Amino acid sequence: MDFDVDLFTIGGGSGGVRASRVSAAMGARVALAEESRLGGTCVNVGCIPKKLLVLASHFHDDFEDARGYGWEVGASSFDWARLIEAKDREIARLNGVYRRILESNGVRILEDRATVVGPHEVRVGGRIVRARHVLVATGSRPSIPEEHGASLGITSNEFFHMPALPRRAVVVGGGYIAVECAGILHGLGSEVTLVHRGDLFLRGFDGDVRSVLADELRKRGLDLRFGEKVARIDRHDGRLLATLRSGEAIATDVVLHAIGRAPNTLGLGLEDVGVELAHGGAVVVDEFSRSTVPSIHAIGDATNRINLTPVAIHEGMALAATLFGGKPTRPVHEGVPSAVFSQPPIGTVGLTEEEARARHGAVDVYKTRFRPLRHTLTGRDETIFMKLVVDPSSDRVLGCHMVGADAGEIVQGLAIALKCGATKAQFDATIGIHPTAAEEFVTMREKAVPTA
Ligand code: FAD
Ligand code: NDP
Repeated sequence: MDFDVDLFTIGGGSGGVRASRVSAAMGARVALAEESRLGGTCVNVGCIPKKLLVLASHFHDDFEDARGYGWEVGASSFDWARLIEAKDREIARLNGVYRRILESNGVRILEDRATVVGPHEVRVGGRIVRARHVLVATGSRPSIPEEHGASLGITSNEFFHMPALPRRAVVVGGGYIAVECAGILHGLGSEVTLVHRGDLFLRGFDGDVRSVLADELRKRGLDLRFGEKVARIDRHDGRLLATLRSGEAIATDVVLHAIGRAPNTLGLGLEDVGVELAHGGAVVVDEFSRSTVPSIHAIGDATNRINLTPVAIHEGMALAATLFGGKPTRPVHEGVPSAVFSQPPIGTVGLTEEEARARHGAVDVYKTRFRPLRHTLTGRDETIFMKLVVDPSSDRVLGCHMVGADAGEIVQGLAIALKCGATKAQFDATIGIHPTAAEEFVTMREKAVPTA
């Protein structure tokens, strides 16, 4: 069969862009279709705008804390529109960077929606392109609940373009997005109620980390409602009323639904050509990211493995090496570090205490919670929590977890140690950097008394 291209990528987000440019650099003829803006979720309505807003939301605390250090900060005010404008300028710049990266590597960009019409055929802009390999890198979209009035709420897509900072907000969900957006709104001055159906938010994270964060957020004044659901939303006198299952009605200006995301595979034509989709729409792939149709591959959120940008990028690079580098490469999904950019943030890598106990039986746990040096002068009642989970038979550190300022920055370094198989003895033999919070990770000597 005569092919127009060696690789046709559907979706110009984190995974699709990386797979395309690396494949092109390896000599493949590559085309990429993007129906919206280059950079995908992460650049346009995800990691980047989120982190910029998190940074913006810290200043209020910083102004308050400055007092303890002898500063007198004058009257301050915050302009939401100016922040959004500045954020949008940066994102437009990044859109351009992504375009140039693709073009300079010889990837042909098609600004249109693409669908799959055969194992080697993609329809885009009214024509059919024949491709040796097709890559589905279409990402995911926010899930919308079904309760009465749900459409009166917004999702993270709209969050980044709200016309004004809401005075009051109800955030529904207990995952990364709910916790991060609640923190942004609270930090910028909104009154926030977070409503989560479970007993505690951030299911899947270490139990201590979850309860320490809940404690810290409550100290800051966030209203956390666990074991609750929004039963209906109504518009009333120009504001919204979110009625909880318990019957309580909360008056609010915004309801943000952050209840998870669904793979973007609807109407893509995949099932018609024999690609198996899992319940929820994720493309079923083997360990090399190949679907049930050998010429069609999928990476990133569309496969719903670990939905993080660096993972989508890693899967994209592994696929390029497999298809065009002569080096079949399995992406690795073990030991993926992550951060929740809450206030204070979480950093985590490896097994939680609960996972480690389930896999290894008895484990040793080291943990500490302390007031950081910074707050000895500010008087702010905020602590840092750190925890190591260790396999007693091999002495290997199985998990590192932290809640506290700079947790993501600190745990990134520890992730390398875990990748190298570091033992607790090697952590102990490492000299600390004084005075830092991070040094506590190498000075914890007392085993915690098991709680479970
Ligand atoms: P995407 O980046 O979503 O790209 C998919 C692209 O495909 C989109 O541009 C879409 O328009 C396009 N597309 C879809 N269908 C078609 C079609 N038929 N034809 C043409 N184009 C199509 N991850 C982190 O690691 N750190 C974070 O801090 C972080 N924060 C986040 C915050 C938020 C609010 C959200 C929503 C996500 C966040 N994530 C974060 C997750 C991260 O954004 C995703 O895991 C990542 O973007 C997935 O990359 P992808 O390539 O699979 O898909
Ligand atoms: P998550 O899957 O992380 O969390 C979804 C939350 O919504 C859970 O608390 C879940 O509760 C709850 N939920 C699910 N369905 C319902 C429902 N019908 N009614 C009420 N609550 C419900 O999804 P997010 O949307 O927060 O984020 C999507 C993904 O994006 C993340 O998992 C992560 O991979 C990525 N991301 C990463 C970030 C980072 O790296 N910092 C930041 C933001 C997103 P339960 O636990 O009971 O199921």
